[in-house]
Amino acid sequence: MKIRDLVQPASLPRRLLRFSCYKFPCTIKNFAVGFLKAKLKRHQCNICGYRKVEFVYATYVHYFLRCPQCNIYFALNLPNAEKLRQEYIVSNDKEYLQERGEYAIPNWNGWMDWKIQTFKRLKLEEFEKEKGSLRRALEIGCAEGKVLEILKERGWNVIGLDISEYEARLCKKLGFNVIVATADKINFRDESFDLVVMFHTLEHTTNPMLVARNVFNTLKKGGRLVFELPYFLDKKILFEDFSNPGHLYFFSEKGLEKMLRSNGFTYLDKFIYEDQIHKPKCNICYLVEKR
Ligand SMILES: [Zn+2]
Repeated sequence: MKIRDLVQPASLPRRLLRFSCYKFPCTIKNFAVGFLKAKLKRHQCNICGYRKVEFVYATYVHYFLRCPQCNIYFALNLPNAEKLRQEYIVSNDKEYLQERGEYAIPNWNGWMDWKIQTFKRLKLEEFEKEKGSLRRALEIGCAEGKVLEILKERGWNVIGLDISEYEARLCKKLGFNVIVATADKINFRDESFDLVVMFHTLEHTTNPMLVARNVFNTLKKGGRLVFELPYFLDKKILFEDFSNPGHLYFFSEKGLEKMLRSNGFTYLDKFIYEDQIHKPKCNICYLVEKR
């Protein structure tokens, strides 16, 4: 996903904004506005529906709420799906890649090695054998298609989905079929896929519950979902990461499991690991099944 400032004025130099966003993630004014916005209207948790969510923090971009019941943090001023999509389409994609190169994923090859390790760790071989040679996989948030390549190498027939037209073009050059859409607008026929994967995508979506429901519907019975997210064992790191303008949700295990259960998934495996790139941040990876 693109690291873009969703509501910051475009006239200011990006570097300065990025710096200020990181070094001074909260101003008194933003904090006061966020606090009032959260107080004046009753908001409910986007995952469990709990009505007494609390205001916790404000950055230049977002006001963050926390649900005491499932312990997820989410942005109060979520962009709607169309706005999110437009932001990506109008953005300069070359800059996006540069940004990601220098800022979000400094070692793209290293990152992919970790994804290969993730698939190894999930021990999908038995499942893949069972599904035969016509098995189909969908990757939501496929970026330039590195994971699609890994899946293809493992014998999957793959389709990608990404919000960026530019990324889709890159994938098409590699011979992949990619649909340009937001994750909450996936529109495949029900029971189309044996596997859905999402790496570091769900936290960028505006409605993870809807995404989970769509994924459930698009999976065949017995199909599996693999997804990975940033995970914050340390509250200090969590609060620092609030200033990443692309991150709209920060999940807890409790919140994730509630979301999966209420959408009908059965839990198979999960693990938390620290990768070499995002240290000291962690990742949490889930393997779940549609029974
Ligand atoms: Zn909740």
